[in-house]
Amino acid sequence: SDQAQAPQTPAAPTPSARPDRRPLVRLENVQKHFGALHVLRDIDLTIAEGEVVVVIGPSGSGKSTLCRTINRLETIGSGRITIDGKALPAEGKELARLRADVGMVFQSFNLFAHKTVTENVTLGPIKVRGIGAAQAGKRAEELLARVGLADQGAKYPAQLSGGQQQRVAIARALAMDPKVMLFDEPTSALDPEMINEVLDVMTSLAKEGMTMVVVTHEMGFARRAADRVVFMADGAILEDTDPETFFTAPRHDRAKDFLSKIL
Ligand code: ADP
Ligand code: MG
Repeated sequence: SDQAQAPQTPAAPTPSARPDRRPLVRLENVQKHFGALHVLRDIDLTIAEGEVVVVIGPSGSGKSTLCRTINRLETIGSGRITIDGKALPAEGKELARLRADVGMVFQSFNLFAHKTVTENVTLGPIKVRGIGAAQAGKRAEELLARVGLADQGAKYPAQLSGGQQQRVAIARALAMDPKVMLFDEPTSALDPEMINEVLDVMTSLAKEGMTMVVVTHEMGFARRAADRVVFMADGAILEDTDPETFFTAPRHDRAKDFLSKIL
């Protein structure tokens, strides 16, 4: 067991796998507590433009909290988070603008139930980006086609399958022209037969060069699409390496143990 092992040191902060590209997301010495719980422990993470980083780890290890701090749905205790070189301000218009640079897709699709698919996709661009309704509508059409939902725009979320709803959620996030997309277990709430249709959209986004942070238990996706795998346990990043190394030669017992349970 872990108790029998020597204490494991967190991974040394690694530079991004794409040092030639500009860093888009940077977390430096980030600490966060929920009361007595140290939920993020000295997180150092740099994600370069075009990089796909898959975050994995046991339940409760802080993956969702990590995602939520990146767009300031959660505050941090100390440290620094920058998006494209800019620190996230505490509040106000500037925060809304910077937050719009970070698209987020959750496990529970979070669509507006009383708005059509098209309205779900156009609302943010019109309200936050100030884009005209006609232009936003045209863009929504393109994005819905891109996620395989052309001609579904007039429907309401409840008329769609879970996989279709999650693809609307992806289109909605893309409509804001984010610099980075965060996915927090986007397929965990889906029936098995719908998982691939969502992973396929994510894989093509990755191939098109979108910068992505993806929390997932889908190891096939991690192998296929990730530039890096980040393994978290108890709020710390224990591994930050390429998928091949992570899956064949994880350094930490926690990672070996985790992999032995899910592979
Ligand atoms: P993961 O996504 O890896 O499962 P989370 O980031 O959701 O982990 O949670 C990390 C830890 O923080 C868990 O122990 C969880 O219970 C706790 N936690 C998450 N959100 C809150 C909150 N708002 N208040 C108190 N504790 C929380
Ligand atoms: Mg989570």
